Amino acid sequence: MTGRPGRTGRTTRGGSQASAGDLLELVRSGRATTRGALQQVTGLSRATVGHRLERLFRAGWLREGAGGPVDSPLGGRPSITLEFDDAHAVVLAADLDTRHARAAVLSLTGEMLAEHGGTLVVEDGPDVVLDELGGWFAELLEKAGHRADEVCGIGLAVPGPVDSETGRVVQPPIMPGWDGYDIRGRLARAFTERTGAGAVPVLVDNDANLMAYGEQRTGYPGCSAFVLVKVSTGIGAGVVVDGSVYRGVDGGAGDIGHIRVGTEALCRCGSYGCLAAVASGGAVARRLAESGVRAASGSDVRDLLAAGHPEAAALAREAGRRVGDVLATVVTLLNPGVLMIAGDLAGTAFLTGVRELLYQRALPRSTGHLEVVTSRLGERAGLVGAGALVVEHLYAPERVEERLLAMGV
Ligand SMILES: [Zn+2]
Repeated sequence: MTGRPGRTGRTTRGGSQASAGDLLELVRSGRATTRGALQQVTGLSRATVGHRLERLFRAGWLREGAGGPVDSPLGGRPSITLEFDDAHAVVLAADLDTRHARAAVLSLTGEMLAEHGGTLVVEDGPDVVLDELGGWFAELLEKAGHRADEVCGIGLAVPGPVDSETGRVVQPPIMPGWDGYDIRGRLARAFTERTGAGAVPVLVDNDANLMAYGEQRTGYPGCSAFVLVKVSTGIGAGVVVDGSVYRGVDGGAGDIGHIRVGTEALCRCGSYGCLAAVASGGAVARRLAESGVRAASGSDVRDLLAAGHPEAAALAREAGRRVGDVLATVVTLLNPGVLMIAGDLAGTAFLTGVRELLYQRALPRSTGHLEVVTSRLGERAGLVGAGALVVEHLYAPERVEERLLAMGV
């Protein structure tokens, strides 16, 4: 599966072409962590490996491991192990939901250093929301004890389809006023205005994509085909194949909420009969409200489910069956090892409904090794994924050389 050029999984060049970035990648992935192992994997001479590593040391990106020397694969003296120095920078991440957001400072290896959640209403528009996020970032850095000039990049998860080339959302049904808006530029400016630091790169992606990325990397690193379905105000899916988010040609992969399931219900996208119009947290809240239960949003439904409300549970199970029917097709097409259900409705009742229809409709061959699970990271999943996206982007072999040159190293 390939998307546009540059969007596919990465390769590390071997042979005499291996760059400083390739060596860094080998160390970060754990595939080669000594000078001898790097020589062996790349075929580079000892002097060339030494020269390239020296640049990475000067940049502060590599350090000698605390574990002491290990046996060298080339024989001879034991070698010092090398490791990625995750203390030379930090990452900022934010995850926007329709009425709530979370933001965090993360280490380069994904550790949460400071975190904040609060009300932020997407419908207030990008200027208000992104400016407010800039303020949150400034406070979080102070809380974490880090300076703004230590920030190497910002990752943002949004509840809508994103063109990852431009970082702009494309016709988002639940983000009025955001269509085509320059999110990267505005958030970079908000960060600079609030902290006085220089501009940093901003990456934007769909929330389900980033939740899938965060959950797969931390909980299921060996799973080569991973699908996460987020069921909150809307419904979206993220697909991680061979360790990379699969976005499709236009960033539209996984946008299953607007598949027509043939009902008369009006969806927020303007069409009738979408899956999200009958099986999302918003749809269940509407059904509950019609029968006199106080519920206005997916998070209200989540609270009712947690309190054991029988009508909410029955409707969640019915919604699960609707989603399970669509997921039978998803599973047949992708044959994932893990199907994770996340978001406001993710709980026993919904999962029971998903399983009922999924196993009834999908071929046994597609479900034989399938694990159907709920989220491990919970509301942190999007933050972890957004942070990892930034790190993998900035330290990818093809970007390391230009960054080293810009640093004068
Ligand atoms: Zn729709």
